[in-house]
Amino acid sequence: MIKTEKTLHLKSCRGRTVRVVREHYLRERVPCCSSLCQADCDHDGKVLPGDLTHYMVPDAAVVVDFLEILEFRELQGVVFTQTACQALQSKGRRYYNRLRSLVKDPRHDCVLFANEFQEYSYCPREKGESQDKWMTRCVYSAAVWYYNHLAGMMNIVMITEDQEAVAQYSSLNSGVFVISIQDYLQNFWPELQAAHELYSSISQVLQEQEGEDSQKEFAEHLPAEVLEAGIKSGRYIQGTLNVSKHRVQNEAFITTEGLSTKNTDMSSDVLVFGGKHRNRAVHGDVVVVELLPKSEWRGRTTSLTQGQGDEKNEDDESSAMPTGRVVGILQRNWRDYVVTFPTRDGTQNQSRNSQRILAIPWDRRIPKIRISTQQAEALQDHRVVVRMDSWESTSLYPNGHSVRVLGRAGELETEVQTILIENCIHVPPFSDAQLREMPLNSPEKPWKVDPVQVRRRRDLRATHLVFSIDPHGCEDVDDTLSVRRLGDGTLLELGVHIADVTHFVPEGSLTDLEARTRATTYYLADRRYDMLPAVLSSDLCSLLGGVDSVMWELDAQTLAVNKVWFGRTLIRSSYQLHYELAQALLNGEPAHVPELAQVASEDKDAKLAELTHALEMLTHIARHLRAQRDRGGALELEGVEVRAQLDEDRNITALVPRQPLEVHETVAECMIYANHWVARKIQESFPSQALLRRHPPPRQELFSQLVETAKAQGFSVDTRTNKALADSLDQAVDLQDPLVNRLLRMMATQAMSQAMYFSTGAQPQDQYYHYGLALDRYTHFTSPIRRYADIIVHRLLIAAIAMDTGAEPKAPGSNKEVEETAHHINSKNRAAQRAQNLSMALFQCLYFKEKDPQTDPRCVADAVIYAVRDNGVLVFIPEYGVKGPVYLRNKEGQVVSVGPDGGCDWQSGSVRRHHDRISTESASGSATFRLFDHITVTDQEPASRRPGGHSGGGRGQLVQEVVQEAVRLVQEAQQREARPRLSKEEREFSQSRTPNLYSLLEEVRELA
Ligand SMILES: [Zn+2]
Repeated sequence: MIKTEKTLHLKSCRGRTVRVVREHYLRERVPCCSSLCQADCDHDGKVLPGDLTHYMVPDAAVVVDFLEILEFRELQGVVFTQTACQALQSKGRRYYNRLRSLVKDPRHDCVLFANEFQEYSYCPREKGESQDKWMTRCVYSAAVWYYNHLAGMMNIVMITEDQEAVAQYSSLNSGVFVISIQDYLQNFWPELQAAHELYSSISQVLQEQEGEDSQKEFAEHLPAEVLEAGIKSGRYIQGTLNVSKHRVQNEAFITTEGLSTKNTDMSSDVLVFGGKHRNRAVHGDVVVVELLPKSEWRGRTTSLTQGQGDEKNEDDESSAMPTGRVVGILQRNWRDYVVTFPTRDGTQNQSRNSQRILAIPWDRRIPKIRISTQQAEALQDHRVVVRMDSWESTSLYPNGHSVRVLGRAGELETEVQTILIENCIHVPPFSDAQLREMPLNSPEKPWKVDPVQVRRRRDLRATHLVFSIDPHGCEDVDDTLSVRRLGDGTLLELGVHIADVTHFVPEGSLTDLEARTRATTYYLADRRYDMLPAVLSSDLCSLLGGVDSVMWELDAQTLAVNKVWFGRTLIRSSYQLHYELAQALLNGEPAHVPELAQVASEDKDAKLAELTHALEMLTHIARHLRAQRDRGGALELEGVEVRAQLDEDRNITALVPRQPLEVHETVAECMIYANHWVARKIQESFPSQALLRRHPPPRQELFSQLVETAKAQGFSVDTRTNKALADSLDQAVDLQDPLVNRLLRMMATQAMSQAMYFSTGAQPQDQYYHYGLALDRYTHFTSPIRRYADIIVHRLLIAAIAMDTGAEPKAPGSNKEVEETAHHINSKNRAAQRAQNLSMALFQCLYFKEKDPQTDPRCVADAVIYAVRDNGVLVFIPEYGVKGPVYLRNKEGQVVSVGPDGGCDWQSGSVRRHHDRISTESASGSATFRLFDHITVTDQEPASRRPGGHSGGGRGQLVQEVVQEAVRLVQEAQQREARPRLSKEEREFSQSRTPNLYSLLEEVRELA
């Protein structure tokens, strides 16, 4: 080991440069991480393959400025030098962490080389040499070292943007090439269009970084140590910035974590009002705020927002709340954003540099982003993925660069991609390396159960009638059922058999890693993105292979559990039923069972009877299980579920509400039972590292709307326990109007907290409770094909079974690891849910877009009022499962007036809100709209560009003509409003009125 000295120039927090001399130790042996290594380097971790044409070594400046390009998984054999890594570190922690996770991720073919510790690769800085030149020399020296260390068996390509370096080094050593990024991409990756585009986008930004305005638009952020001291002393408050969906320009709230503040009256969020006080913080950033004097506190706005420009100060406000201003930012949580390139209509700043445009984010909570581009013309009205780079105090907008073009706004594919990106859902096709891990299954070479497995597993193939029941056309079947009488008939045996995915997905394999990253299969209205490759999700796992089973021996009379058995089995599924078919069999209706099509009729009758009998036994058991949970307080909640019926070209032909069948509940009940028993088993075996799912009781204050609404209707809803809630919801039935009960249940659902996964070591046992299901322990075991949580649970169960036979306890992860995984899955699940809702809303919009609200009766629908606001009501349209606002006052101050025939129009007048009703006064009289009143509304086509969406007027029991008359008037009024009248604030800070197909529907959902 050789000791030397290294001089560093570090920047202090206050911006001064400090010269530091450090001792620096050089070693002869620093691992090269290549499989071609001739020197027996110690490798633990990733190793670059030997069968590439070259290794690529990026210069430090390339890593700093173009890391995004190096993140493409297609690039192979990348060597990051320590020099580059340190250079990136000085750019910020966020970037440094990205590089670290890149180097760790086995799906990326890159390694880190500690070149500055390698005796023969290290070069000290020379007198007068600039930092940049020295770093480039270090990286080149590392490239040369690699070439020599691998004995010339691998060409090395160094890429740099320094043209002098290209000239100086490129012909110095044969086998070590020095070229620019652009040359590199053109020579080696001509097909990787996305990388080329990204390159030109980033270099454009770099060229224009000089010459910014110098006038200050915002206060400077305070240095980190001042912020930290301020938080400690209680002067400042730390939290995450949440921009209000309905008041994007003015209202943002700071959600404080754990209330680590000394201000005792800080029980609520902190309001940040206006762009200046938001001080360049972006939705999702972790910020530090200082409270304003109490005289400057404000309330939050309470009326329905009637459009994006409608943020006047005279809006109705709640009582004043703590209000503050952002003084610093602890962590930027910027992600990829989808923006629309605006139509070039002259409002853009073209005076100084016509290449700069203000792109409009899809997510309205994100400010416009300034992009330098030469494609502004070509990309008008296109959606583009961008990243933000910086937001200087001299700029009204953040700067960013484009990453990739999605397509024209409003087209289905563009919109679906937008939904995915906006929810950080990344679902690339499975890589070859991942697919190579999969078992083979083809017509020529069908997959067979391994004979070793046959010996190890309990074989149910000859003894048990096993079948599955799933939605029609379901491809990813992973759960099957069996039920039979035992012995003399005093016992029943119920079995739940779940695809044994973990057999094919070993822990730590590439497939496992990918599945973990995705965490779930993503279901959109017209497609799905699988968590696992298709060979598993649709072929192997369910019907052919082994399964993990839970089997209960039940007393045939009382259905009490006699015995429960967990283990690995072999099954043969005899029937793949769908719900409607199973229900038909139960109802004794004629039914066509495809599996029996070829069977002779005598046999067929016997088999049909056998199957039907099994279904009946299942129903009987499930009713009993359900009643048992009901006694514990299980809730029956109401979700709005509507299915889009699509034709081959993915056009929507109808929106169909889901029909509830008893067999749905039967299957669900058996799955719940299996999940519950597996939860018990793994929690007992692994008390501090099992993955369970809990559902915390809701916060009581969230029930107030439900309680108030029910009261207005004469019902009393008791929300103290789930049992009380379930019972009182059962009582709250209006015989005249079944919608009342449905709406109350929907409100109860909305008040619920979300169920989430957790590690048993991270919560006290009294927190394990599942409120909605009324079970003391619960987990997910029954869908390992589409949920990663279930994969972990299967591993836990197998380990628990092994422990029963005397094996050493071997949990798949520590408490900390399981808890981390739980967090990750929870957040991915929320994203999946949002994406699903958005895609459903997208299709609803597309459905109505085709229809003319004036002539198409499908646009006119019955709606029921479920909430009253200051200037309108919220309604639910059962036919389409849509909720939406109906305004009773427009921006001109006119109110809806109801004529003697029930038709509606706009007249000047006033509107008055009471707690259970809202009334309008105009020259033609007064009109009152009460909770649970039925009204007729039109579903506004979204292309009318009017934010706010579904709207209209008219009271219940209207004659069709009158409705249409009313509808027309309302629409005309709305179209008048739709013309852009950009306020000054809007021009400066927020969004334009570019059509956004479903932001309005999203808004509606949030309101509800
Ligand atoms: Zn080596």
